[in-house]
Amino acid sequence: MSLLFIRPTAKNSTKKDKRYMADVSASPLKHFVTAKKKINGIFDQLGAYIQESYNFLEETYQNAELDPVTSEEQVLEVKGYLTNVKGISEILARRHMKVAFFGRTSNGKSTVINAMLWDKVLPSGIGHTTNCFLRVEGSDGNEAYLLTDGSEEKKSVKTVMQLAHALHQDELLDSGSLVSVMWPNSKCSLLKDDLVLMDSPGIDVTTELDSWIDKFCLDADVFVLVANSESTLMQTEKQFFHKVNERLSRPNIFILNNRWDASASEPEYMDEVRRQHMERCTSFLVDELGVLDRTQAGDRIFFVSAKEVLNARIQKAQGMPEGGGALAEGFQVRMFEFQNFERRFEECISQSAVKTKFEQHTMRAKHIAEVLRQIMESVHVAAQEQRVYCLEKREEFRDRLEFIEKQLELLAEDYRMKIKQITDEVEHQVSNAMAEEIRRLSVLVDDFQMEFHPSPVVLKVYRNELHRHIEEGLVRNLSDRCSSTISVSLQTTQQEMIGKVNV
Ligand code: GDP
Repeated sequence: MSLLFIRPTAKNSTKKDKRYMADVSASPLKHFVTAKKKINGIFDQLGAYIQESYNFLEETYQNAELDPVTSEEQVLEVKGYLTNVKGISEILARRHMKVAFFGRTSNGKSTVINAMLWDKVLPSGIGHTTNCFLRVEGSDGNEAYLLTDGSEEKKSVKTVMQLAHALHQDELLDSGSLVSVMWPNSKCSLLKDDLVLMDSPGIDVTTELDSWIDKFCLDADVFVLVANSESTLMQTEKQFFHKVNERLSRPNIFILNNRWDASASEPEYMDEVRRQHMERCTSFLVDELGVLDRTQAGDRIFFVSAKEVLNARIQKAQGMPEGGGALAEGFQVRMFEFQNFERRFEECISQSAVKTKFEQHTMRAKHIAEVLRQIMESVHVAAQEQRVYCLEKREEFRDRLEFIEKQLELLAEDYRMKIKQITDEVEHQVSNAMAEEIRRLSVLVDDFQMEFHPSPVVLKVYRNELHRHIEEGLVRNLSDRCSSTISVSLQTTQQEMIGKVNV
C-alpha cells in the first residue's frame, strides 16, 4: 500500500519518516483551514485600518477651521465600510466546507459518512427511519448532542441507538427538516478541519427534490452520489443531479459505487462490471451533466465498500487488526480505493470551498481597500494643497512684516533728524528773541508807570513791582515772538509723520 494513503502512526516511525509523512499526509483540508485563518486575519486588519481611517476623517472633518480636506459623504462612506467589513468577518468566521451525500435508501450513505468519520456516528441499516436531513458538524465539547430546526435545545445523545431513537421519536421532524448532530471535534480530525457532512433521506422517497436543493444544496461544495454497485444508476438519482446542475454552475460531483465487496463473490465478472459502471458513470458526468472532462473521471468515480472500511477503522481504533483476522478477497484494494477517494475529495472540496466561500469576499475587500486608498489619497492631496497655500500665505505675511519693519526704522531715523532740527531751530529762535528783548529792555522799563518815593519801605515795594513787570513783559514778548513759528513747524512735522505712517 502506498505511503501516500496511510495516516501516520507515531509509534514505529523515525524522525525523517515522520517529517516525510507529515508532508505527504497533511490533510488537503488544511488548505481551507489556513485560507480561512488568513482571510480572517486580513479582515481583522482591514477592519482596524478602516476604524483608524474613520476616526481620522471624522476628527479632521469636525475640527476643520479652514476648508475641510474631507467631506461628510466620505466620512459616511467609510463608516458604511466599517459595518460592511464587520458583517463579512462574522460570516467568514462561520464558514465551513460542506459535502452533501445523496442516493437511494440503503445504498450506504450513512455508512460512507461513518467510515469517513472513523466511527458509528449516524444510525445505518435500519432502513428509512426518517425523512430529515442529518448534518454532522464538529463541536468543542466532549459530548455529542442534537440540535433540531428552530430550537436552541441541545438534546444529548450518547449512542447511535439513542440518536436513531431520538430521530424516530421526534414527531416534529417532518420531511425536509434539518437535524444537526454536533460531534466532538476531539473525536474526529475531519470535523476539526471545518468540514460539515450532510446525509439526506433517500432520493427515491421524495417528491420534493426542488425544495431540497433550495434549502440544503446551494451552499454545498461537493456532492457525493452513493450508488449501489449491484445495480445501475437509477433515473431518480440522475434526475436529482440534473436539477442540481441547473441551479449550480458545474457542481463538484463524486460517484461512489458502494457495496463493491459484493463483486468479490463473482470475480469472473468483476472487471466487466467495473468497466460498465465506469463507462455509465463517466457518460453521466461528462456527456449528460457536462461537469467534467473525460480525463478527470478517474478522480471522481470510485468502487468502494464503506461497510468494510468502517468496520476496519473501528477495529483499528480499538487496537485490533483491520480485517478482524479474516480479510475478504480484495479488501486491501477496496480500502486503498476508499482512501484514494478521501484524498481526491479533500483536495477538491478545500480548493473549491476556498474559491466559492472566500473569493467573492476577497474581491469585496480589495474593492473596499481600493476605495479607501482613493479617499485617503484625495484627503492627502487636499491637505498638501492646503499646506502649500498656507506656506505661501505665511511667506507673504513675513515679507510684508519685514517691509513694514524697515519702513518704520527709516521713519524713526527720519523723525530723530526732524526732532533735532526743530530743537536747533527753537534754540536759535529763543536766543535771537532773547537778545532782541535785552536790547529792548529800556522800552520795557519805560513802560513801568509806578510812582517813585525814596523812603526805604516804598523803595522795596517799587523794586519788587519793577521785577515783576519786567519778568512778565519778557515772557509775554518772548512767547509772542516764538510760539507761533515753533508751533507751525511742529504741526507741519506732525502732519508729515502721520502721512508717512499711513502710507
Ligand atoms: P443509507 O440508507 O443510504 O444511509 O444506507 P445505510 O448506510 O443505512 O446502509 C444500509 C445497509 O447497507 C446497512 O445494513 C449497511 O451495513 C449496508 N451497507 C452499507 N455499505 C455497505 C457495503 O459497502 N457493503 C455491504 N455489503 N453492505 C453495506
